[in-house]
Amino acid sequence: MKIHKEFIGGNITVVRIDGKDVYLENELRDTTVDWFYWAFCVEGAEGKTLTFHFQNNRLGYWGPAISHDLMEWRWLNQVGDNEFTYTFQKDEKKVYFAHNMLYFPDRFAKFCKTNDLKIEELCKSRKGRSIPCVKIGNGARSIILTSRHHACEATGNYVLEGVLKELIQNPIQGTKIFCVPFVDYDGVVDGDQGKSRYPHDHNRDYDLETPPIYPATAKIQEYAKKNGCRYGFDFHSPWHKGGVNDKAFIVQNSFQKLDRLNAFGEILEKCMNEKAFQYSHVNDYPFKTNWNQGGTQFANYMKKREENELAFTLETAYFGENGNVVNQENLPELGKCFALAIKTYTEEKEGKIPLKN
Ligand SMILES: [Zn+2]
Repeated sequence: MKIHKEFIGGNITVVRIDGKDVYLENELRDTTVDWFYWAFCVEGAEGKTLTFHFQNNRLGYWGPAISHDLMEWRWLNQVGDNEFTYTFQKDEKKVYFAHNMLYFPDRFAKFCKTNDLKIEELCKSRKGRSIPCVKIGNGARSIILTSRHHACEATGNYVLEGVLKELIQNPIQGTKIFCVPFVDYDGVVDGDQGKSRYPHDHNRDYDLETPPIYPATAKIQEYAKKNGCRYGFDFHSPWHKGGVNDKAFIVQNSFQKLDRLNAFGEILEKCMNEKAFQYSHVNDYPFKTNWNQGGTQFANYMKKREENELAFTLETAYFGENGNVVNQENLPELGKCFALAIKTYTEEKEGKIPLKN
């Protein structure tokens, strides 16, 4: 039997194996705070029943996400306090387990192929990898879409995919869209947490005073300077679980633009359908509350641009809650609703809601 992390997104340390009990820890790497992402592969355990033990706060409400190909994921629907048990079928040669339903560049490439979208190179990453970006449409209105500023936050990618799909099928006239789906590309491939990296992570690399330290964030800023950013939407996953972390919510990041943020939230709620992971405006996170103090994030950089109407982060839960459980269909559907909300906002509200003093 082999338990390993030798695949895209892999992150695990096997501490010890004691009969049917496997003791695991996730790897923080250069993350300076406790974080919860992990993903591992088990090979050659056919017919065995094993219990996998973790540190505190590493497992979601429905246990691990499971896959045989890294593309299709389901919840195990079995979990203890800090462990889960799995019986490997006789023909299960290779099984992947992960903290959440992973989303990798292969899926994005497949999505682009299906939708006739050309992948371009944004730039090379620090490790020399080609970071993908896509462009859709033309016109004076610029929209920048990003996700994976924090490498482990896969739910953002599923939502973003749904946004893109809807905007391809039903374009917003006079609009150019620029999308970077994996800002921390190395982190996604290497299976890093990405959150709170030392000395700062990709989403703390948008300081107006200091040059960026990551190639991708430098390019995104360059793009905004050249093409503008009327709208900037950054798709994230929140903290592990509990409270608002189990929901989808907009991180409100401005008092000046509060009426616009509220208008967008109300529109998004009206655009929801029953197939989507549910969003309610009431869950939007108020500015200057707890951790939401603003700073050098993508959305806070873009919101300060003169031409900017709105820029914010949408957080989407890793697991959800009873009656609103995350899966690979309802997240892109939320993205579709989000795209409809962008369209409605541009038609009904754009340029009409003044800034507050
Ligand atoms: Zn994040």
